[in-house]
Amino acid sequence: MESVNQLVLRDINSGSILRTIRDHAPISRADIGERLGLAPSTISVITKELQERNLIRECGRASSTAGRRRVLLEINPSGGHFICADLSGSQLNVAVLDLSFHLVQSWDLPMAGRRGDALYDYLRNALHVARDWCGERKLVVFNIGIATPGLVEPGTGTVLEADNLSWYEFQLQERLQQEFDCPVWVENDTNTAAYGEYRYGYGKDQHVANLMYVTIGTGIGAGLILNGQMYAGSAGMAGEIGHVVVAMDGPVCVCGNRGCVESIASAQALVRDYRTMVKSPAEVDVTIDEIIDLAEAGDPVARSLVERAGRAIGLAVGSQVNILNLHSVLFGGLAYRGTLLLQSIRKAIDAAVLPNLREQLDVREASLGPRAALVGTASLSLDRMMKGFTSA
Ligand SMILES: [Zn+2]
Repeated sequence: MESVNQLVLRDINSGSILRTIRDHAPISRADIGERLGLAPSTISVITKELQERNLIRECGRASSTAGRRRVLLEINPSGGHFICADLSGSQLNVAVLDLSFHLVQSWDLPMAGRRGDALYDYLRNALHVARDWCGERKLVVFNIGIATPGLVEPGTGTVLEADNLSWYEFQLQERLQQEFDCPVWVENDTNTAAYGEYRYGYGKDQHVANLMYVTIGTGIGAGLILNGQMYAGSAGMAGEIGHVVVAMDGPVCVCGNRGCVESIASAQALVRDYRTMVKSPAEVDVTIDEIIDLAEAGDPVARSLVERAGRAIGLAVGSQVNILNLHSVLFGGLAYRGTLLLQSIRKAIDAAVLPNLREQLDVREASLGPRAALVGTASLSLDRMMKGFTSA
């Protein structure tokens, strides 16, 4: 019989082997052994086990000049699934993702102003629909991941404060955990989107270790990847770029301070200022999308507002680039609409960043679009599964 230590060691090795296959597939058993410094017999036993659990599969043979060609391994995409939900937009997006983070099924559900407990019930029901969908197809669900706006307590997944959802000290992770028969994780939406971009979007081909993902919309927030890890800060509050003060005597912000980026560049701020400046009753109902379209079309008022928003965002981001020596800054949300906003941001970053840092800096649109948070949640779920392999 194996000792507890042997079992623990085997789980640690299983996690390391899975991670190596995820990061370097297609890869042979011998190459895995070389990378991890593990004996061929250990690799052979564990990869057999992982194959029996359908987590990995063989995918051809390596080309070789001499001897037997080595069998290559990769993650088996359909070996397990994650159910992920994203509460960051105007819809509740729920999806089933496989081990290669493809969306195999998704539900885009209107939030219709639901908040508090009503929103929780709506989310729980949607997750049950997804769970049943997986059950009918006999799919193995490893865990459920939720990406929510607001401040999330690291570890407990309690939503400490999410004004838009009316969740305060809301024990989301614990409540869902009691409801479902698999682990549940709750994370901040911007952090998960940053992680999704890092692992499976922009960062997949770029091999960068330090990046910031900024989303621009109702709020302006950032997710940070530092040294290849998601950085949430000591209380989960890192990345509050929307509340960096950029105008000493600027407008009062929702946080109570004056001149924060959000007080100038959020969707609401742009709509508010456009209405004030135009004063025409016909334009009272203008939406943020219309303002951006007007700006793109050359409307002088809309253009000046969008450019000012870009300057505010760029100034705040530039200071973070100077502090953290970031390699890349990716923009999502409103930055996807048109080109003027991102151009203005870029110009302001260039003006604020030290010349040496500017040369290395890459500023661009994020690559995963509105699915970034779902993909990030699934990739965090896989990381967690590999870490606590025993419970998978
Ligand atoms: Zn503020």
